[in-house]
Amino acid sequence: MVDICGEEDDFATHGLRAFNHIFQDIVRPVRSGALRAQPGKEGKVTVLVGGGSGHYPTFCGFVGPGFADAVVMGGIFASPSIQAVATIGRLAHRGGGIVMGFGNYAGDNLNFGIAAERLRAEGIDTRIVVTTDDVASAPSDTPERRRGVAGDIIVFKIMGAAADEGYDIDAVEAVSRKANDHTRSFGIAFDGCALPGAPEKIFTVAEGRMALGLGIHGEPGIEERDIAAPAEIAAELYQRVMAERPPEARRLAVLLNGAGATATEELFVLWNELEVLFERDGLTLVAPLVGSYATSLDMYGCSLTITWLDQELERFWRAPVNSPALCRHAVEGDWVPASRQSVAELPVHYERAETADAARAGQCIARAMALLSRTMQEHEAMLGRIDAIAGDGDHGQGMARGARAAARGARRAADEGAGARTVMEAAADAWGDRAGGTSGALWGEALFAFSTLLDDRSSLSAATVRQGMIKAARRVRQIGKAEPGDKTLVDALAPFVSALEEARPEAETIAASWNKAVARAHEGAEATKAFAARRGRAKTHGNHSLGHPDPGALSFALAMEALAALMDDLA
Ligand code: ADP
Ligand code: MG
Repeated sequence: MVDICGEEDDFATHGLRAFNHIFQDIVRPVRSGALRAQPGKEGKVTVLVGGGSGHYPTFCGFVGPGFADAVVMGGIFASPSIQAVATIGRLAHRGGGIVMGFGNYAGDNLNFGIAAERLRAEGIDTRIVVTTDDVASAPSDTPERRRGVAGDIIVFKIMGAAADEGYDIDAVEAVSRKANDHTRSFGIAFDGCALPGAPEKIFTVAEGRMALGLGIHGEPGIEERDIAAPAEIAAELYQRVMAERPPEARRLAVLLNGAGATATEELFVLWNELEVLFERDGLTLVAPLVGSYATSLDMYGCSLTITWLDQELERFWRAPVNSPALCRHAVEGDWVPASRQSVAELPVHYERAETADAARAGQCIARAMALLSRTMQEHEAMLGRIDAIAGDGDHGQGMARGARAAARGARRAADEGAGARTVMEAAADAWGDRAGGTSGALWGEALFAFSTLLDDRSSLSAATVRQGMIKAARRVRQIGKAEPGDKTLVDALAPFVSALEEARPEAETIAASWNKAVARAHEGAEATKAFAARRGRAKTHGNHSLGHPDPGALSFALAMEALAALMDDLA
């Protein structure tokens, strides 16, 4: 949080001002907070929530139909003032009394508490519901000492839906307390957060370590450990929130929350592991959420929140909502476990080879793909490092992924007895589909071009292999439009193919010409060290690559070198 923060003192107020501007279809600005742009029905219970800034979309994102009527925002990690809470309470009141929702922190208890007394003194029935979902902050027999964290979003959503449905103040208070009683959260941080403009983080987690049970303002955790694999992180989170599971509980709302600097896709990775645990225990998920809903500025971490649902809580959790934090229609149906979700896919069917020779040729192509796969795996890291110099560092991964997929596709086709053409087509298809990147498309198309020279009747001859390579090279030149000297794969491919073309099949075996061609490919790849890239991603940083070979040229030479082992079998 040192890059875009403007004046440190204004961070929260400027943020709120922008928020109110951006979401003006849903909210209306007030000093230190926001109201619904369209106030709820006359006489309804007013839901007023709030707390410190720095947790976006908690709390201001909670205003809107189906959620809160109003929000009061304090400074960063600081409670709003008594005055702000009382003023916004008066503005938002619709005649049905006010239920205040906030997390259990000393400052919030004080400011909201005194504001509530003032409102009551003015004749407005005002109730308070504090959230206490963080299991790490105190033992289960003293829930009143627990902090409120990401559970806010579920508890306040239920509170807001109940008030919008027309519950009176006693009923809104009761259902909100029940929602809080049924909610548990546990968080893990991999790195701390910095206040806007501050050069240092307010707390840090040592490199490679994770802090368990950390609060959302950097309150110390209960334990520190080495960062574990996603499955272990998921198991830890799961076990902590499930420890207080009531025996009859079967249905639940779930939030897998990011702390601010966690990529949503990282949370998705973790979700896959969690999902297995929910399914194992026969639990039914209702409208789960994954994303950064309760953040701590730029903290890197995540938390898991669950709320046990009874019929009443479930009805309010499913109710429609339109707020900056959460916007959805009424949610119908249960979540089918991922393992039982059907994935749309075209059925694959391989033609069987017409002759035994052709089936052997199919097996030979599958072996070639397996060899390529092993070789690319072996060089994956090195190719990635070279690609990182002027490109994006993914060439090793792309080649390994493509070759692995091709090997699998080819193996499946060959095992079904397909001939050379069909097996090669399957490999080309899988490579192109799975590898990604420029090289993935080029390799997929090259293999496909090669396959067009094959058939499902014949054995594999040296002549077809030679012709196939020529055809593949032509296809790469045609679609990539690179010339020798552009520092691409072509710098290894072109000399390789010229060597095959120059070879005299009557005078030497394919194995011998192939080895010569491989040497030329390596020379070509080596020569690219002297060029700056003029094609592909690397051209933008072309000069960085001087002195280093082109990764695509090198991977090509290595691939051809690996295939030499198969050439003795060809006539
Ligand atoms: P991306 O560049 O999309 O990240 P990769 O990193 O997998 O894809 O592949 C990069 C390699 O692709 C380069 O090293 C180069 O050999 C090859 N390449 C890029 N553009 C072309 C092109 N137009 N023609 C031939 N090869 C190319
Ligand atoms: Mg790349």
